[in-house]
Amino acid sequence: MTKRNPHLARLQKSYLFPMIHQRKQEYLAAHPGVSLISLGIGDTTQAIAPHVVEALKAASERLGTQEGYSGYGPEQGDPLLRKTIASHFYGERINPQEVFVSDGAKCDIGRLQLLFGREARIAIQDPAYPVYGDGSLMQGTTDIHFLPCLPENSFFPQFDRSLKVDLIYICSPNNPTGTAATRAQLQKLVAFAKEQRAIILYDAAYAIFIQDPELPRSIFEIEGAREVAIEISSFSKIAGFTGVRLAWTVVPDTLQFEDGSPVIRDWSRIMTTLFNGASNISQKGGMAVLEPQGWREVTQQVAHYLENAAILKQALESKGLDVFGGVHAPYLWVRFKGRNSWDVFQEFLEKLHIVTTPGVGFGPSGEGFLRLTAFGLRPQILEAADRITNFSFS
Ligand code: PLP
Repeated sequence: MTKRNPHLARLQKSYLFPMIHQRKQEYLAAHPGVSLISLGIGDTTQAIAPHVVEALKAASERLGTQEGYSGYGPEQGDPLLRKTIASHFYGERINPQEVFVSDGAKCDIGRLQLLFGREARIAIQDPAYPVYGDGSLMQGTTDIHFLPCLPENSFFPQFDRSLKVDLIYICSPNNPTGTAATRAQLQKLVAFAKEQRAIILYDAAYAIFIQDPELPRSIFEIEGAREVAIEISSFSKIAGFTGVRLAWTVVPDTLQFEDGSPVIRDWSRIMTTLFNGASNISQKGGMAVLEPQGWREVTQQVAHYLENAAILKQALESKGLDVFGGVHAPYLWVRFKGRNSWDVFQEFLEKLHIVTTPGVGFGPSGEGFLRLTAFGLRPQILEAADRITNFSFS
């Protein structure tokens, strides 16, 4: 009889968001007709920007002509898109050959774990986007250190020299805490990784939300990062491409394994073996996002989401709650001291008819917190803010 991969047994039964969906469905089945506002899953809601839609349409139409048809493209992505991503986001710091275009940051995070094998000792922020931990468990990794990120340490881990790790996952602006790392924090991180000869897997999927020019939008703004970091980013939250699918990962050619071999060579091998290139239509859409008109349109959308965050933040703070994030990120991280996250989730669901995400679903240090997303349509955000303002929290 075929044996199950034993590492799968170490995962929790269900991924967080299907669990939330199930609770929502159960509540709706028992209370038909209730109008729920969904501020749970971090999915974009605004229609794709007009300039980008035109490019997506034109790319589809081209495929319907014999001259314009194209099939498989290079696994690493369209060379022009790689070049444009390199110059748009990294200036001179990154060259186009170091940019690998893909179908999603989540998939890239899963594939990146193949680079290191199950012996790697891993550090993960707690709370964190679940894929870092779950993906590592699936690979059979056992040495995982969770680094608590709480208001007391400004939601950024303290790197203690006694911690011996090979890989450090960092997400900034952070999902779920909504906090962006400062330059000083990232400098310490890079110094720690150098000392440990560890590699940082830096998830910058929300970098476009950073408003303060003093806060780095990329780990490669930090001196020395090219020797210790890989950066993962995505068009999902930049341009509402959560359904279109387009992302990229930067692996500097200066990054090496312990044996001196270049990480980029193995990454290229993995990508050309397991991946067949991002959709050619999505890639044309991505090019349009990075054109001046597209960029203007998507930054307006980002500003709109940040206004949503400000509206929600004000409503929550008016109730005396501690609210973190929401300034350089589309997430609010709300503290309910001494309470259980799932109980507060249930209270929001049943009394306010708002779907949120229980903080503990992102790790033990998320206990007592709720995550609210600002990715909503304005009328729903205003309605949610109203419901919060008129509710008496226990
Ligand atoms: N990284 C973080 C921190 C995320 O929150 C998400 C999605 O919510 C992703 C990556 C996934 O991005 P993509 O849609 O490109 O797979």
